[in-house]
Amino acid sequence: MTEIKNIDNVSNNSQKNFMLPVDFHCHSTYSDGSYSIEEVLNMAKANGGKYIAITDHDTVNGVAKAREYAKSIGLNFFGGVEISVTWEKNNLVHIVGLNIDENNKILVDNLNNLRSNRFKRGEKIAEKLEKAGIPNALEGAMKYCNSTEALSRTHFMRFLVDSGYAKASNAFDKYLAPGKVAYVPQTWASLEDAIKWITDSGGIAIIAHPSRYKFTRTKLLRLIDDFKQCGGRGIEVISSSHSKEDANNIAIIANNHDLLCSMGSDFHTIETFRTIKVGINHPLPNEQCKPIYTELGIKHEDLVIS
Ligand code: AMP
Ligand code: MN
Ligand code: MN
Ligand code: MN
Repeated sequence: MTEIKNIDNVSNNSQKNFMLPVDFHCHSTYSDGSYSIEEVLNMAKANGGKYIAITDHDTVNGVAKAREYAKSIGLNFFGGVEISVTWEKNNLVHIVGLNIDENNKILVDNLNNLRSNRFKRGEKIAEKLEKAGIPNALEGAMKYCNSTEALSRTHFMRFLVDSGYAKASNAFDKYLAPGKVAYVPQTWASLEDAIKWITDSGGIAIIAHPSRYKFTRTKLLRLIDDFKQCGGRGIEVISSSHSKEDANNIAIIANNHDLLCSMGSDFHTIETFRTIKVGINHPLPNEQCKPIYTELGIKHEDLVIS
């Protein structure tokens, strides 16, 4: 078994070798990341990354630009997306699409449609915040956001934090999470549709950060069952949302259910609760794991951080 090391402790090159130069989940300003495509890719490269996918929420609009820029700085790039899914009535689940074709019209059209309701939801979130005594939240959140259709709860979080209404660690629990004062439910894509859009455009569908949903084991296995029946093939084992114990547990579930094991920083910004740097990830915790990178044609010997 390979031990998972905390990236925060990585301080010299020999320790860096415990990390893999791959990252199949991160965000840019095309959704709720704080950095531009170029900045994210530059950081990934500076951290020692070699293989990367940028997976913005419900959009592939930044992928062509990212592909070109990655090539210009010598990074191996895969098209990516993270699709918001409503599963079993009202559970929000994220599905990463890896190696998608950003020019696939059905994928692009459906994602544009999915994102078109984000601003309307944002207006409702702002109304609720106003009732809770927090004015001008829509304008405030939009200051952190590049386009109306990208508007996310993360942008409201940044506004709430910078205006002193909450801390980064509690803005969701105080205002934005399900059941809290400014929560506005939204119906996203069905699991079946999201996986179909991904696979029809040549991508691999992956369950993002499974431990974050706090599902019971039975419920997680039901999600995996539905996911596989729709053609899903991978699951994130390594994620900044996962503890070492989470990674171990998900690795075992992945092996039992013949799922490819993925790894992603889920990088949004510097200085959050997330601990994995963009561009590099911990190795899989279990030698039986089937790594997703093998499926992408990446060889083990390519995975040394230089
Ligand atoms: P949305 O797609 O607008 O519903 O926003 C979801 C995004 O909010 C996720 O992609 C995360 O980046 C962020 N998020 C969700 N829960 C939390 C949390 N507890 N703390 C910080 N960010 C969160
Ligand atoms: Mn996000
Ligand atoms: Mn997510
Ligand atoms: Mn993400």
